[in-house]
Amino acid sequence: MVSELQDSSLLLPFTGPHVDIFVANSVSVSGQEYYPGLTVLLDFNYEGEPAFAVISCICGDRIYVDKDDVYFVVTEWLTCEFSFPLQAYSCVLGTQQSCRHVSHIADYKPYAAVTCFCSGCAYKHIVLHHHLCYDPVYMLPVSIMI
Ligand SMILES: [Zn+2]
Repeated sequence: MVSELQDSSLLLPFTGPHVDIFVANSVSVSGQEYYPGLTVLLDFNYEGEPAFAVISCICGDRIYVDKDDVYFVVTEWLTCEFSFPLQAYSCVLGTQQSCRHVSHIADYKPYAAVTCFCSGCAYKHIVLHHHLCYDPVYMLPVSIMI
């Protein structure tokens, strides 16, 4: 039951306390597989900057399934800067956790948060998908504040 879970405070606004809910190691939604450790795009802020979060893999599995409803408990990335050489956002993992229904993430495709080859770089780098294909049609008007 939701009320007995570690993440109950995050899930309660979505499900209510008396729902039996299942914890999943991974889940496939419309052919897209999700599992803890993947980064997803939550949304864009008013300046067009993306807000990323990683599906929590700390303390076990944090994907919850209630019939056809899938919830992710995520830990949000803090975006520090945009790296033009890498064409990627430089992020550090924050502590803020939240719960999202799978239909309320901005992009169904997960992202990779990767380290670069620069020694001493503490960031993980996240590349937006439209930067991978250099397709100007999908470029968002992103302005970066450092
Ligand atoms: Zn780096």
